[in-house]
Amino acid sequence: AKSRGHNQYSLFQPEMQEKVSERAKLEGDLRRAIDESKIEPFYQPLINLRTGELCGFEALARWNKDGVFVSPQHFIAVAEETGLITTLFEQLLSKACRDAQLWPGALSLSFNVSPVQMEDRLLASRVLHILQQTGLQSSRLEIEITENALIDDPDLAAATIEQFHAAGIQVALDDFGTGYSSLAQLARFKFDKIKIDKSFVSSFTHNDKNAKIIDAVLGLGRSLNLKTTVEGIEENAQLAYFLGQGCDIGQGYIFGKAMPQSEVIGFVNNRKRA
Ligand code: C2E
Ligand code: CA
Ligand code: CA
Ligand code: CA
Repeated sequence: AKSRGHNQYSLFQPEMQEKVSERAKLEGDLRRAIDESKIEPFYQPLINLRTGELCGFEALARWNKDGVFVSPQHFIAVAEETGLITTLFEQLLSKACRDAQLWPGALSLSFNVSPVQMEDRLLASRVLHILQQTGLQSSRLEIEITENALIDDPDLAAATIEQFHAAGIQVALDDFGTGYSSLAQLARFKFDKIKIDKSFVSSFTHNDKNAKIIDAVLGLGRSLNLKTTVEGIEENAQLAYFLGQGCDIGQGYIFGKAMPQSEVIGFVNNRKRA
């Protein structure tokens, strides 16, 4: 519409207006949902591929909208743009830390941090405060950061990562390979783990190149002494492949989808007997 010269009003079509008010409604709903604690963490199992043992869970936000669980893809971006992400983060992390203390054993808790949160100088102290309040051991927490979160203010990102490490918190590079300048990030920032995004995994059996990329990343992880997680394992053929490839941790529907806290203990006990 922009290129139509003088006809600038075409930018404001009724559909546009509709989108704007849809957005405003979503923002209002989100604000209320946070106030009423309607967004909660679900937990997806992480499996040690060498031993087959459960090693922890990744917390994934779910919005309980009148009994229907809304995916984070529909609200995390809005939370980021409105600044609601900080409140949401603190609420979810507190809940997750308390939940994790009820899990049997010292299973790890992985938690996602948004790129916009990496611009918050207080991020690490917010996390430490929550650990203190809830009593979760810092060594059980792992923060997942995406590559794009490192771009805007690399010095601040490096300092925040350093603060996490100093406190004994693990740091993972999430969605590896989907963002910008992945390899440079590995040299510049200190990570404990890289997570290979599910987009490489879902098509790897039909796409020779993806398999080679995954192999290269696993090799890179080994030589840099980083643990590796492969996300999105759904099929036996994929699992068999990664088992043979020296990948450390697996995550995917083949092991289990994200579940509410009420199902976690049962899952852990079943897994032990299996
Ligand atoms: P992510 O960090 O890459 O998380 C993994 C996503 O892959 C999750 O989607 C998970 O349900 C999905 N997944 C795992 N295994 C499989 C599989 O075998 N097959 C398929 N098809 N999908 C699988 P989910 O829960 O919809 O979350 C989407 C994204 O939303 C996450 O991607 C993360 O970037 C973001 N997110 C979720 N919770 C939070 C949160 O509390 N805070 C922030 N900042 N972001 C969050
Ligand atoms: Ca993640
Ligand atoms: Ca992600
Ligand atoms: Ca991912």
